[in-house]
Amino acid sequence: MQLGNKVAWFGTSGKGSFGKVRLKHRELFFGKAEEQASMQTVEKAYSTLQLTIGWLRHAEAQKLKDAIQLYFKSGASAIPRIQPILELVQAGMTNGKLSLKTDNTSTSRFVNQFGVEADDVPYIEGYVRNGANGSKGDIHVTRDYIMNNRFQAVRTFIHEATHRFANTDDFGEQGYMHADGSDFRAPGITAEQCLNNADSYAYFCMAMGYR
Ligand SMILES: [Zn+2]
Repeated sequence: MQLGNKVAWFGTSGKGSFGKVRLKHRELFFGKAEEQASMQTVEKAYSTLQLTIGWLRHAEAQKLKDAIQLYFKSGASAIPRIQPILELVQAGMTNGKLSLKTDNTSTSRFVNQFGVEADDVPYIEGYVRNGANGSKGDIHVTRDYIMNNRFQAVRTFIHEATHRFANTDDFGEQGYMHADGSDFRAPGITAEQCLNNADSYAYFCMAMGYR
């Protein structure tokens, strides 16, 4: 089955700068609004990540400690675990292999994370497909978020980027957070699991670096 992936953005320069972003059309031409929204999503994700990494230098800051407690169930001693993950994502976004793909509806037939068509799943925020040898595919974010919900588009992008570039996991309802980031959807995730949980990183970044 051909997915409805219509646009992809690629970062083009390395060496720590985000660089130019290039649009690639497939199958369906997206208008200026979609182009702009896709680009703004990626740029906002990058600035969110940068600001969050900057915060990690301020281990004494209460705002940082509170966020680490909420999203990682840990104290400031977890910073050396959190920082390398975020830096892997930052590096991934600047090494020329960045891509964002979306589709033309939010409820089209999607595939789940195992590459299996899942038309009984009405709504998927985003995904990366697992490739050979542990590699990960392109970052997908639903068009509905890209066009209508910048916060969730950026959060989903960062979530998927941690899968792609830092090999994070999901832990089901125990690992996914409520949309407002106030708490996990179900209790039970451990601190150790949080430190490898994609949504913990995504909402942590949104709390610390999203402007
Ligand atoms: Zn995930």
